[in-house]
Amino acid sequence: MALIVHKYGGTSMGSTDRIKNVAKRVAKWHDAGYQIVVVPSAMSGETNRIIGLAKEIMADPDPRELDMIASTGEQVSVGLLAIALQALGKKAVSYAGWQVPIKTDSSYTKARIASIDDVKVSADLAEGKIVIITGFQGVDELGNITTLGRGGSDTSAVAIAAALKAQECLIYTDVDGVYTTDPRVVSEARKLNTVTFEEMLEMASLGSKVLQIRSVEFAGNYRMPTRVLSSLTDPLMPLAEEIVSGTLISFEEDTNMEQATITGIAFNRDEAKLTVFGVPDKPGIAYQILGPIADANIEVDMIIQNQSVDGKTDFTFTVPRGDYNKAMDVLNASVKEHIGAGNIIGDAKVSKVSVVGVGMRSHVGIASQMFRTLSDEGINIQMISTSEIKISVLIDEKYMELAVRALHKAFELEAA
Ligand code: ADP
Ligand code: ASP
Ligand code: MG
Repeated sequence: MALIVHKYGGTSMGSTDRIKNVAKRVAKWHDAGYQIVVVPSAMSGETNRIIGLAKEIMADPDPRELDMIASTGEQVSVGLLAIALQALGKKAVSYAGWQVPIKTDSSYTKARIASIDDVKVSADLAEGKIVIITGFQGVDELGNITTLGRGGSDTSAVAIAAALKAQECLIYTDVDGVYTTDPRVVSEARKLNTVTFEEMLEMASLGSKVLQIRSVEFAGNYRMPTRVLSSLTDPLMPLAEEIVSGTLISFEEDTNMEQATITGIAFNRDEAKLTVFGVPDKPGIAYQILGPIADANIEVDMIIQNQSVDGKTDFTFTVPRGDYNKAMDVLNASVKEHIGAGNIIGDAKVSKVSVVGVGMRSHVGIASQMFRTLSDEGINIQMISTSEIKISVLIDEKYMELAVRALHKAFELEAA
């Protein structure tokens, strides 16, 4: 019997009425003869609320204790959904990550899944039970509860689907698929019927939070057919209609080649930029600047080093905005003193906008069209980075939405 994994996000689980609707949808799939594992998120707002409680007590709480707290939202969700399914007459059982177990490393708040035991879940499925497993959390070797990073339930779902060799993983959310850009920012955004795995990977890594990037990596590594679709439609809609209503992440390289050069626009509001002036231009400098940043567990994204003048150069890089103060402290403590650099300045109000598309490989002039569009809007580009299928620019955060809308129009993404 084919197994399907369903994942429901926070909005989809946001009230007991919504949970009853999830139960109806899951029961419909089970009635149609599928084995079903469900991976829900915490009810919307809940993870923020409980992390907020910890931060009311202390600005920078112990990550182990944060995970202990953050993981509880999903535990409430799985129990409620099991009850809602039992109320419909279904056999259902819920598990926390440690009960499966879903084993992870010990990087609290951003743990990576190491293995998922399928024994207990397979036995339940064989007995006709619907199995509900907490998203977002796991357990490390010492029995500590860990979480997988914000938005991590997507990753739990795809990883569970891969471990159980499911036929498909269906990610139900509050939009009906992956769009050319966030439909909450550009109302003309168009739903994509398919998006290539590579494009989805870029979009997720560049800020499109519709899927957590690691879930896309799992989908790619295990070739797990994954779809994004809406949980807010009629839960009893015919299965055949439902299955084609969302966006399929496709592993076929050429499905989008005939289409426009650009597939989508991603953005990340929360970037910050740091510049070290007057750095001696000699071997080992980039390492000396970025080594302490990496040691502080801060991820660096874009990097520029200018041409040197009189043996000195300027070095600029970006970090997530939440790490800006920490990065500044690290630079002030280590870099300035040890490498004899000049001033360090920063800007925590910058955003990154990226155009993504496999079509870029076979088309020229995408960068110039992007830069012309931004210039026409009077938007200054502060940094640029490119890969084979994306171009990213860093701009002042106050122009971010304007840039996304202008680029969406310039690349004619609203047209089918
Ligand atoms: P969930 O709680 O179901 O995991 P998320 O809020 O994490 O939902 O992700 C869904 C949201 O992602 C949408 O409401 C939408 O605003 C946002 N989003 C960003 N980029 C895109 C995109 N390209 N296509 C669709 N949604 C997007
Ligand atoms: N509840 C977690 C979060 O808010 C995980 C998720 O929703 O995917 O980040
Ligand atoms: Mg999400």
